[in-house]
Amino acid sequence: MGMNERKPGRHFFANPGPTNIPDSVLRAMDRNSIDFVEAEFLAVFDQARAGLQRLLFTTHEVFFYTSTGHGAWEATMVNLFSEGDAVLMIGGGYFSGAWAALSEKFGIKVEMFQVDPRLGADIAALRDRLAADHAHAIKAVCVVHNETSTSVALPLPAIRAALDAAGHPALLLADTISSLGCFEFRMDDWGIDAVVGGSQKGLMLPAGIAFTAAGPKALAAHAASKLPKFYFDWTAMLTRRYRSFTGTVPILPFFGMVEAIRLIEQEGIPAVWARHRRLADAVREAVRAWGKTNHGPELYCRDASRYSDSVTTILLPEGADADGFRKLLLDRYNVSTGGGLAALSGRVFRIGHMGDLNEAMILGTLGCVELAMADANIPHAAGGVAAAMASLAATSTPR
Ligand code: PLP
Repeated sequence: MGMNERKPGRHFFANPGPTNIPDSVLRAMDRNSIDFVEAEFLAVFDQARAGLQRLLFTTHEVFFYTSTGHGAWEATMVNLFSEGDAVLMIGGGYFSGAWAALSEKFGIKVEMFQVDPRLGADIAALRDRLAADHAHAIKAVCVVHNETSTSVALPLPAIRAALDAAGHPALLLADTISSLGCFEFRMDDWGIDAVVGGSQKGLMLPAGIAFTAAGPKALAAHAASKLPKFYFDWTAMLTRRYRSFTGTVPILPFFGMVEAIRLIEQEGIPAVWARHRRLADAVREAVRAWGKTNHGPELYCRDASRYSDSVTTILLPEGADADGFRKLLLDRYNVSTGGGLAALSGRVFRIGHMGDLNEAMILGTLGCVELAMADANIPHAAGGVAAAMASLAATSTPR
């Protein structure tokens, strides 16, 4: 298709981040610049920060950066650690691997806690590993709450309990980039010391703002940390009115954030979680139906208690070309999905179901996936969309 050719109808965007941006959020950001030290902006900033604290269920400090999630990872590690410090990274997917690789660049010693990527971490084994660290050399346990590459979500309260059962004082760090605003997360109740997040998924904003929320134990670790930092230095940030940023403050995303949080709270945070669960269940039922044949597609995640409500990674039959299939789906039906990352490249595709999404969007996406699987001769049983509809009908709740 040429550059100037218009595809009729809506572009269906079912990527696991960035996500669809609600019209009212777009409108909220459609405005001219104002001075970031003036009262008008500071009031908006304060509203956004307070709203984000409500979403995180925290009263702790939040530091914002003009960056994506990678920047927030980097900021978090350089603010908490010194060269040679050891951390335990719970593995299992592309994003935990990327967080580990980034940390190692700064001289942090990363021990990968190995897991079956289709199941996620064995919590009893994690407790044993922590209990065996008598010297308490491990300074932090790093957890990707929702591994966006595999669609395996980890039980943070159980991981907190494993640390407590082992009597281990390590910090507990959580990456909530693809869970916050999608399914349950509670920073303070769950005893998370530092949380990394980004704007472009459950928060329904463009990419470009990321943040760390840091509790008292994390701030104490920060005070002792020696890794070099300038742009990301929390100590410098704490001296500023908005306790964030070095240099110019990005104004417009905060107008968008206030509106996005208003939308989330108008629906109700538990209702937003329930909507994500309901739509995710429908996607999973569709995949199960497609898989009711020899060598059909299957859910990559094998532990039903760890299914992600924000993304579903779908393993295609051996020999199928997942990227060719995604290209066909995009070119012929104008539906965009996520591809496989690292080891899963070409083997899976990912349906993002996070953020501003309803039944019609999910059914439209699933319908076109089913059409495209037929076009691409990918072995599958028909009836995925019907199964998704049955799931939605069975779980429908009056709004
Ligand atoms: N962590 C998780 C769980 C993610 O899903 C992503 C991106 O998809 C990242 C970190 C990296 O964030 P970014 O791409 O914004 O740098």
